[in-house]
Amino acid sequence: MKKAAYITFLLMLLCIFALTSCDSANTPPKDLEQQPTSGNSDSIPTEPPAVCQHTFGDWLSVKQANCKEDGKRTRTCSKCSETEEESIPKNDAHTPVTVPAVPATCKAAGLTEGSRCALCGKVFVAQTPTEILEHNYVDNLCKCGAYKDSQGLEFTKSGNRYILSGIGDCQDSRIVVPATYNGAPVTKIAENAFASNNSFREIILPSSITEIGAKAFSYCKGLKSIKIPSGVKYLERETFVGCTALESVVLSGEIIQILESCFASCTSLKQINLPKTLLKIREYAFYNCYSLEEIALPSSLNEIQQFAFLDCTSLTFRYLGMKWQFKQITKGFDWSCNTASCLVSCYDGEFDIFYD
Ligand SMILES: [Zn+2]
Ligand SMILES: [Zn+2]
Ligand SMILES: [Zn+2]
Repeated sequence: MKKAAYITFLLMLLCIFALTSCDSANTPPKDLEQQPTSGNSDSIPTEPPAVCQHTFGDWLSVKQANCKEDGKRTRTCSKCSETEEESIPKNDAHTPVTVPAVPATCKAAGLTEGSRCALCGKVFVAQTPTEILEHNYVDNLCKCGAYKDSQGLEFTKSGNRYILSGIGDCQDSRIVVPATYNGAPVTKIAENAFASNNSFREIILPSSITEIGAKAFSYCKGLKSIKIPSGVKYLERETFVGCTALESVVLSGEIIQILESCFASCTSLKQINLPKTLLKIREYAFYNCYSLEEIALPSSLNEIQQFAFLDCTSLTFRYLGMKWQFKQITKGFDWSCNTASCLVSCYDGEFDIFYD
């Protein structure tokens, strides 16, 4: 009993010493009083006191403040390891970056070099626009794809629009037809407008053109390529007859008929696309186009007249439909006489012109 009292006294001393080191008065050694003689080591308080007289170390920055966001710093008590945190307010620490200059082109203005903050976007040096460049035309065409209208062409007034009636004194090898003349739209190429003229190899038609008269380009022996604007619905008779240099024709549009002898004796013509709006190909339309290699016939077709492809000796046909549909097309006498093959390739197999 005497020994137990001695141990209890020692424990109490130890406890008081521990408690005074972190100035606490609100946890009386109640437990000790209740279990004075147990000798059980569990009863010894090992937790730190609830309130510590902190001794903090230096602030350590964990996130730098900048012009856009607050920063953060922390410090830790060396006794109880408690950590304290506070924010560092935003400041003027911008991150300037160069905004590269944009060179001007003939289609768009450029911009000078500038500078701004990569974080908050604050502008230090504003970019200013630089002047758009002039087009640099070679043969009426700029590298950017812009065309320069030809001068000297002849026009005839018709109501509130103009008809291109002839080449006039224009000597361009690439003729660019203007969309307007004297402020009014140019909507038609007259019959025979360029007939038998060999001086140009290309002609650019504006989308304002909706009509091309018969024989408009007949026997233009220098003409190599042409694109028909989408508003044109009929390719009239003999429009391109005898254009022996014509290699490529693009029908961009809504063509519903190709009339008599339209492309007859276009002996260099290699390719032509037939639009899905095409209903009729009239007689001799492609007569003697002996360089034409393959043609895709659209399923919209309901008539191919006699001799339409006579003597197209390199030509084979594809049909964009089924055999039974191809059979229903009204076909004129010898419509495909002397073509390279008498077989038409359809989606569901080959159609034999003579036997099917
Ligand atoms: Zn502390
Ligand atoms: Zn900034
Ligand atoms: Zn240009």
